[in-house]
Amino acid sequence: MKSYPMIILGGGVAAGYAAKEFVARNGKAGKLLIVTAENELPYERPPLSKGFLTGKKQAGDIRISDAAFYRDHGIAVFRNFPVKKINFRERILEGPSGRMIGFERLLIATGSTVRRLNLRGEGQSKILYLRGIKDSRTILAKIEAGKRAVVIGSGFIGMEVASVLASQGVNTTMVFPDDRVWKRLFTAPVSAFFEDQFAGHGVAFMKSDKVVAVNAKPRGCQVVLASGSTLDADFVVAGIGVAPALELFRRTALEMRDGITVNEFLETSVPEVWAAGDVASYPDRAFQRRLRVEHWDNAVEQGRVAMRNMMGADQPFIHAPYFFSDVFDLSYEFWGNTGGHDRVVYRGRPDRKQLSVWWFKRRSLCAALIMNRPQEEREFASRWILRRAQLDPQALQRARNLKSLDATFGQQACFKP
Ligand SMILES: Cc1cc2nc3c(=O)[nH]c(=O)nc-3n(C[C@H](O)[C@H](O)[C@H](O)COP(=O)(O)OP(=O)(O)OC[C@H]3O[C@@H](n4cnc5c(N)ncnc54)[C@H](O)[C@@H]3O)c2cc1C
Repeated sequence: MKSYPMIILGGGVAAGYAAKEFVARNGKAGKLLIVTAENELPYERPPLSKGFLTGKKQAGDIRISDAAFYRDHGIAVFRNFPVKKINFRERILEGPSGRMIGFERLLIATGSTVRRLNLRGEGQSKILYLRGIKDSRTILAKIEAGKRAVVIGSGFIGMEVASVLASQGVNTTMVFPDDRVWKRLFTAPVSAFFEDQFAGHGVAFMKSDKVVAVNAKPRGCQVVLASGSTLDADFVVAGIGVAPALELFRRTALEMRDGITVNEFLETSVPEVWAAGDVASYPDRAFQRRLRVEHWDNAVEQGRVAMRNMMGADQPFIHAPYFFSDVFDLSYEFWGNTGGHDRVVYRGRPDRKQLSVWWFKRRSLCAALIMNRPQEEREFASRWILRRAQLDPQALQRARNLKSLDATFGQQACFKP
């Protein structure tokens, strides 16, 4: 049985950036192995619902590092290697056909798996999901052949896929249980803004409704809603959320709750084993509670920090939760966590597609959404959230620029990183 000083289990975003960090820190050739269930080198997932799905980007464009990077730095990548069993005591991974590999240090970066609908109707198999490059290719082929689509869910994936479909000329209807898009994350004015944009591109909404069956038809399928309405579609895409990929670790010594429990250094309860990305539940310093974040930036930064610590550093993970998303011609970014907020401040001109939204909890800034606003808003948003800076919401509302506010309020942090 071959053994490696370091193995990364999972070949996604956290793995790709951890490998880059290994090289940046002069990791030695032959010491690191990445094992992945996919037949791909680690790649960026966000383009799968954006540029890759429109056909503008190809597989080679979205790789985190190219094949020469792994070859030149002596990093082994075992593709098509789904790990079936893990033995923490013996420090062994078991892959396909009983193939065993030993490890000294392990980084778990198994990401998420999509939630699937359990519906009536033989057309169920027609529902498409989006997590990996293969899924994106399948949907792309449907876009090229189909004219009508139903998108189930109004989270990131649902919104992004619907915007791509509509911009590619597919007649798109979104079905979701809430009475407005983004209800769980954003305020009613923000939802109204996005709904206007989508409606302007021809996307129809079936709100406060849900799909109960998908029936096969000679061409495409018929989607049946709880309200009794039916929709004919050439294809259906569901984006109803993800769950951390934990199955492999059930009945092992690894401590888990909503994800793999790690400390601020991203160490798990098993010695010399770290976890990063969608799968890791970490203690967030700024928010003083455990978070598990299913976004790109978190996977990148945790992958880097975990690798540094695997290579001997002692660096805590301190970072404002962040994500970005693109729909139609809009790119927006979000920092923080809106949980428990008691006040919201709006800046900008939504009619010009310039908007920023600031959430407060007991006068300290806890979250911000920013779209087409001056660069300083982006910079101060993350800085103030991380510091949990005490701000005057009215002053923020009125301020022409934020530098003066930073001097007055931004320094009064109730938490110093
Ligand atoms: C379509 C799409 C669009 C997105 N867009 C955005 C966006 O716009 N903005 C944003 O902030 N975030 C976005 N995200 C989220 C972001 O991509 C994820 O948070 C990020 O990929 C998480 O990285 P990860 O390394 O934890 O997991 P992943 O990137 O999912 O990688 C997990 C890897 O582990 C492998 N694996 C799992 N189990 C095993 C096993 N037993 N054996 C071997 N390998 C295994 C998987 O095959 C996969 O290669 C998007 C995600 C998707 C799917």
